[in-house]
Amino acid sequence: MASDKFTRRQFVAGTTAMAGAALLPDALCGAASQDTVLNAGSNAAQSAARESVHWQALPFPIKEVRLLPGPCQDAQEANRRYMHSIPVDRLAHSFRMTAGLPSSAQPLGGWEKPDSELRGHFAGGHYLSAVALLYASTGDEDLKKQGDALVAVLADCQKEMKNGYLSAFPVEFFDRLRDRVKVWAPFYTIHKIIAGHLDMYTLAGNQQALDTAEKMAGWVDSWSTPLSYEHMQRVLGTEFGGMGEVLCNLYAVTGKRQYLGLARRFDHAQFFDPLTAHRDELKGLHVNTQIPKVIGAARRYELTGDPRYRDVAQYFWDEVTSERCYCTGGTSNDEHWGSDPGKLSKELGPETTEDCCAYNMMKLTRHLFGLAPSAHYMDYYERTLWNHRLGTIDPQDGTTMYYLPLASGYWKVFGKPFDAFWCCTGTGAEEFAKLTDTIYFHDDNSIYVNLYVASEVNWPEKKVRLRQETQFPRQQGTKLTVVAERPLSIDVAIHLRIPYWAEGGSVKVNRQVLPVFASRSSYLTLRGPWKNGDIIELSLPMGLHRHPMPDDETIQAVMYGPLVLAGKFDAVTPEMRSTGYGPQGTPFKVPEVTAKVDDVSSWVQPVSGQPLSFRAATQEQAVDLVPLNQVLQNKYAVYWKVNAAKGQVG
Ligand SMILES: [Zn+2]
Repeated sequence: MASDKFTRRQFVAGTTAMAGAALLPDALCGAASQDTVLNAGSNAAQSAARESVHWQALPFPIKEVRLLPGPCQDAQEANRRYMHSIPVDRLAHSFRMTAGLPSSAQPLGGWEKPDSELRGHFAGGHYLSAVALLYASTGDEDLKKQGDALVAVLADCQKEMKNGYLSAFPVEFFDRLRDRVKVWAPFYTIHKIIAGHLDMYTLAGNQQALDTAEKMAGWVDSWSTPLSYEHMQRVLGTEFGGMGEVLCNLYAVTGKRQYLGLARRFDHAQFFDPLTAHRDELKGLHVNTQIPKVIGAARRYELTGDPRYRDVAQYFWDEVTSERCYCTGGTSNDEHWGSDPGKLSKELGPETTEDCCAYNMMKLTRHLFGLAPSAHYMDYYERTLWNHRLGTIDPQDGTTMYYLPLASGYWKVFGKPFDAFWCCTGTGAEEFAKLTDTIYFHDDNSIYVNLYVASEVNWPEKKVRLRQETQFPRQQGTKLTVVAERPLSIDVAIHLRIPYWAEGGSVKVNRQVLPVFASRSSYLTLRGPWKNGDIIELSLPMGLHRHPMPDDETIQAVMYGPLVLAGKFDAVTPEMRSTGYGPQGTPFKVPEVTAKVDDVSSWVQPVSGQPLSFRAATQEQAVDLVPLNQVLQNKYAVYWKVNAAKGQVG
């Protein structure tokens, strides 16, 4: 029997055989739903009063941002069609069975199968979050009705169970958790379900969903109250998702302080203590078990002002993004941090970088940016969005990936619509429902334009809209138009992010070049006043640059502007593309490169007349390079072995 290297696949395959075996903490990935307060709807003012710290910048409510045609809208729409296609009675099936209510629906497959110990995480959790987010992002009333219908059925199930418990698996799973007998991740699943309901309340106005969420929190309280601190800490050895975060959010929404106290029971001392001391003891840990704990810490700081929690979140983010992330912004290899800080060159495999980890790191980034809006956070966010998120959803059927492989020669694998429901299916469904949530932030008198994505933001308090038209990244820049409802001048400053990768740049207002610009990784501030029809044109030239491994610069990725480029090789079969969690089979043998190690232009050249197309000269053949997010059906290479050309040292 595997011990502390027990993987998720083994868990799924061996659940029955392992029942009763000693429980070990190495379970599953976590994810957390959309932060409630940051995107609160009609209750925003009440919730804001419960924030204990000053947000220097806040995101616009999702409902005030709309995507315009482009790659983000394509991804959103694929996700939306997929969410529409999942019938409510199939989602509700295992909940009804658990509650003793009849159901003749065909059960869902994958991790929602009736014998999966994680059942319910998507069906009653991520799905509701995705629906709520899509409703806020698009105004899709039909989808909201599906979400409302599911909330109603689940409320019936909860009522049937009488004590506030709501799950698609029996409450006995929590006996096993308490007794430290092997079980998958019960609180992880409960987190998703509470978060889904809270999102349906805050983003889609479903009052019944808040009632259900509060009753669930009441059950969590009654379950955990008899446990000693030490016993609860042992329970926290089993993956528990974003329980701390969602209970903080429940306090923020309701003002009931008991939820803040309940959230604190999910403070995992063994994980937080080294971070408080600024020690990186992350090696060996299951990555996505940890990131949601840190999001919870950030949220706790925001609601209590206790600086220890901010320190934990800040140190963790700095350490992971600087020492443990790859060129795509992703982190983890086979779901773990397997090495010391900065040692990544030997940490490449077919299962490098789980998608949930990228989702959660982006989510954490939004918190830190709001507290101190520095461009380097959004540089990271953009890198992860364009390379690790876009390109991991199938534009046809909305299915998503589990891992983004970074070892050379592998390929992308997508889940099946009704037979996957992995953790990453869930976070993917949320990710592509909330592409609107970070493009723009604001403070009292200014707008931050963080991301170059075709979209429009409405700021009702200022009676102004900003319309962003761009084909970025095919277009190296963007155009913003001020749309004002009234002829008065609009006294708002506009901060434009100048990315870390910009090779110079310029800005025009109403076709006049301004004699100002800003340095890389900062914001260029244009002060108003503005009037209806004013046009800002921002030019951000891209160039080729390399992204070497921190511990071996001869292993390097090639980037163009924000984009990771991938060498494109043989096409894979539909079977290879939809089998397993990650690629199974032989990778393409990617040729090595002989060139100047520190000069990517010595071996990669743009193809003239074809935007975002490049050609690499390797030892054996010329290879076409395109953005990684465009490779959907081919074997590919992101990291290359670059050997020094003759006469060059190193
Ligand atoms: Zn995952």
